[in-house]
Amino acid sequence: WKNAPDNLRQVAMVARMHGERAFAVYEDERVTYEGWFRAVARLAAELRARGVEKGDRVALAMHNLPEWPVAFFAATTIGAICVPLNAWWTGPELAFGLANSGTKLLICDAERWDRIAPHRGELRDLDTVIVARGDRTEGAERLEDILGSPKDYAALPASELPDCQIAPEDEATIFYTSGTTGQPKGALGTHRNLCTNIMSSAYNGAFAALRRGEEPPAPAQKVGLVVIPLFHVTACSAGLMGYAVAGHTMVFMHKWDPVEAFQLIEREKVNLTGGVPTIAWQLLEHPERANYDLSSLEAIAYGGAPAAPELVRKIHEEFGALPANGWGMTETMATVTGNSSEDYLNRPDSCGPPVAVADLKIMSDDGASELPVGEVGELWARGPMVVKGYWNRPEATAETFIQGWVRTGDLAKLDDEGWCYIVDRAKDMIIRGGENIYSSEVENVLYDHPAVTDAALVGIPHKTLGEEPAAVVHLAPGMSASESELREWVAARLAKFKVPVRVAFVEDTLPRNANGKILKKDLGVFFE
Ligand code: ATP
Ligand code: MG
Repeated sequence: WKNAPDNLRQVAMVARMHGERAFAVYEDERVTYEGWFRAVARLAAELRARGVEKGDRVALAMHNLPEWPVAFFAATTIGAICVPLNAWWTGPELAFGLANSGTKLLICDAERWDRIAPHRGELRDLDTVIVARGDRTEGAERLEDILGSPKDYAALPASELPDCQIAPEDEATIFYTSGTTGQPKGALGTHRNLCTNIMSSAYNGAFAALRRGEEPPAPAQKVGLVVIPLFHVTACSAGLMGYAVAGHTMVFMHKWDPVEAFQLIEREKVNLTGGVPTIAWQLLEHPERANYDLSSLEAIAYGGAPAAPELVRKIHEEFGALPANGWGMTETMATVTGNSSEDYLNRPDSCGPPVAVADLKIMSDDGASELPVGEVGELWARGPMVVKGYWNRPEATAETFIQGWVRTGDLAKLDDEGWCYIVDRAKDMIIRGGENIYSSEVENVLYDHPAVTDAALVGIPHKTLGEEPAAVVHLAPGMSASESELREWVAARLAKFKVPVRVAFVEDTLPRNANGKILKKDLGVFFE
């Protein structure tokens, strides 16, 4: 590992060597690696000139634009801590992120600035605001005045990064967790945490091939359609970081839209896409899929949420592409396990073995003892990708990070070869009169039904049993299934206590947050 990059200055310098290759494509803009690097170096110097010092927080609030990776590297290569904020957040949520992180300088797009500006008075640490793609407004500078248009980045003068000593253990980022189970927590990640992901994404496929007794694939430069937001740690660390080092091209979309995705896959000859399982489902189920040439697609990779085994088979059969699944969390800066290609087709219910530098163990609920192979308990993970803790949350940090291990809050089991099977989030498990029901088990059975394309199991209150399982489903366009038919479908395949007592149908897909996770806490209303 000695010769691998272990801080973001090194990553930037390796990436620069890809020169004239396309780094980012957005609408009719194409930014080369050299153009991107010139913009990073210029902006880094300008941040310095505005007083940004090592350890200061620089927040980033924008959707996936070429300016995002410019701002991210400009901040982190001079030792600032970059705080990527969720672009879906409302004004008060964005203000929470800025206040919680004590951000000094903010780089955002015009839409986010409209939301944040009314809160400016509350943000005592915020000195400087730089707005991308916006008109001149009071109290903010324009990024275009500093860098010009992304189309012209390659014409900026060539320069080096401003001097800065960075150690691998220095803090680089605060990414907020998705807030699926409570208020988002800021995970404080180091340069080494992020760089570990580069190694994992580069070598995971090679190790999997060696395990199967095959030649590892030769490294090649690919085109990826990046559809999940960069403020989600997976897109940034497993995506952006790995791409920059390998010289891949990132194609950005303004907003997720399956038809636009088909057009971009055809136009840019995209090889890789995915992000979260829902994206893969929507590509598969869309009636217009057949009108586009999608033959360039080689792999569809996802993580972040449970993926039904049915999806694995469909991706392979209907796209001829290889599916891949990774498990990780914001606290691990993305990938800890990976399952891909033939391995995944053979074990479609596993998220794979841990990456080379990670360890997993399954612990009892109280965290006191390690459970044997095959038993379900809480998953704990360890390795150089696990962050130091939560920003400004000492109690949550002490509860979650224990002697180098992170308690994941996920229920899982390991098989005798160390492959991991996520069974449920501990908080989503339904206890019906003392019987445990893992929601993902029932959801996977529902997904197997030909009409079902989206499913969630939630607990609804019951006087004597505590709670009972109920399902919310979305059916494929033109398909039908009744409540009793779906209950019988589950009853034919699972124990009686697991059969949903009620099934609600929704017109749209289920409500999800920006990271593709079903908002189960919002589903109770269907059964009131
Ligand atoms: P919060 O911690 O704020 O409640 P969150 O846990 O959803 O939100 P993230 O860090 O984005 O925030 O998500 C990590 C979680 O996502 C994991 O703990 C796990 O429950 C789920 N997850 C990630 N990858 C997978 C996967 N491959 N299969 C199943 N679940 C996954
Ligand atoms: Mg979590």
